[in-house]
Amino acid sequence: MTFKLVIRCVLKKPGWISLLFIWLLLIPTGICWAQEGRGPVYVVQPGDTLWTIAQRFGVSVDVLASYNGINDPGQLSADAELIIPGLTGLSGILTTQNVGYGETLRSLSRRYQTSEKLLARLNHIVSPNELYAGIELILPQSSQVQAGKERVAVGAGNSLLEMAVLERANPWALLKANSLRGIWAAIPGDILRVPGGADDEGPGALPQTITGIQVGPLPITQGKTVIFRVEAPANLSLSGSFTGHELHFFELGAGHYVALQGVHALTEPGFYSVTLQGLLPDGTKFDFSQLVYVRDGGYPYDPPLVVDPATIDPAVTKPEDEQWAALVTPVTAQRYWNGKFQTPSPLGLEYGFPSLFGNRRAYNGGTYDRFHGGLDMYGDTGTEILAPAAGQVVFTGLLTVRGNAISIDHGWGVYTGFMHLSEIKVAVGDKVEPGQLIGLAGGTGRVSGPHLHFEVWVGGVQVDPLDWLMQEYP
Ligand SMILES: [Zn+2]
Repeated sequence: MTFKLVIRCVLKKPGWISLLFIWLLLIPTGICWAQEGRGPVYVVQPGDTLWTIAQRFGVSVDVLASYNGINDPGQLSADAELIIPGLTGLSGILTTQNVGYGETLRSLSRRYQTSEKLLARLNHIVSPNELYAGIELILPQSSQVQAGKERVAVGAGNSLLEMAVLERANPWALLKANSLRGIWAAIPGDILRVPGGADDEGPGALPQTITGIQVGPLPITQGKTVIFRVEAPANLSLSGSFTGHELHFFELGAGHYVALQGVHALTEPGFYSVTLQGLLPDGTKFDFSQLVYVRDGGYPYDPPLVVDPATIDPAVTKPEDEQWAALVTPVTAQRYWNGKFQTPSPLGLEYGFPSLFGNRRAYNGGTYDRFHGGLDMYGDTGTEILAPAAGQVVFTGLLTVRGNAISIDHGWGVYTGFMHLSEIKVAVGDKVEPGQLIGLAGGTGRVSGPHLHFEVWVGGVQVDPLDWLMQEYP
């Protein structure tokens, strides 16, 4: 190994005499590295191979192997430190990190004091748009981030010089710390890092007063409920949008804002913008948009179904669907529910389910352009159906497809629905408590037998009810 490395060093310096060659044979290879200058170091992670690492950094396996004196690429151990060639301008340890919502290539470059160009090259990013929330990037280890660099927004009408005076910072240090080419390069609304301020882990592309933003769980998945959290001062006016739905933020304790939004089960997998706008108490406006990836939910395809054509006639189903969608659209500012939802049928989780949420369905030889919008639970005619959480009844009645149905508003845009009941035990306007009897299971409407069809709607979209039975929201 030593021999091979030394030869490479010597070959790069053809003018050297053979005496030197012999001298080099006798010294540790470390000297060889010292001559070339150490590149940044990547710590091998479990599951990495030389090939995946080479791919990741855009170098050939041969170059990577020879640069690190590796004879047998199969013998790569986790925690080994590899020097990555070709990354002039970078040093220290590189780590992989998931980029959260609220960061741009520019904000990361300012945080890690590395040019945008170099970060882009390191991660093969062609356009800043590729920096979606949740992307795994290679970044310098966070211990290399200069402590004490708070975010400051360039105010409207303020030049960088004026800002430097306000922040008692040296304008040239400010330029350097933010990789700016001149004082003209900072534009109003731009978020700069000011050396000497407080330590700051917050979302780098947003004003300092916003101390945290989370969008998740990532990756966002068809048919799931997405939680948007913002940590900021009280009295923040906050709005946003995602997949064509307006986000409704509510304050959950002082300075903690939450919005919930369902992802439609048939959303085409791909990139979608999450846009946030706000007005801070000091009058600062912000407007930020970043892509998130919506992935396929992996829902199974039910065998093609053959039903009475009258039951899938749009003349019948469309008005009913529209009526139901209109019922579950209003967003009540009061949150009635608290904690996990209870199972509405006594034949709950431990009994399994006749049909799960999201299954793709095709009727009478048609295409698979429909999905099962609820969770089917076992229940005979007469089985008691209970409210899963506190709320207010907003609909009771007999519908063609849904049969005897109930809808409960739980606040914050969250609704539940109960279909095919034999009896309804509540009336519109009733306040219900978790576990309260609301009706009896049955086989009314479009069914092949008695069961409970249970739905959860969030932000006007049907989501997987099982999530609400298994975990606490928000
Ligand atoms: Zn169903």
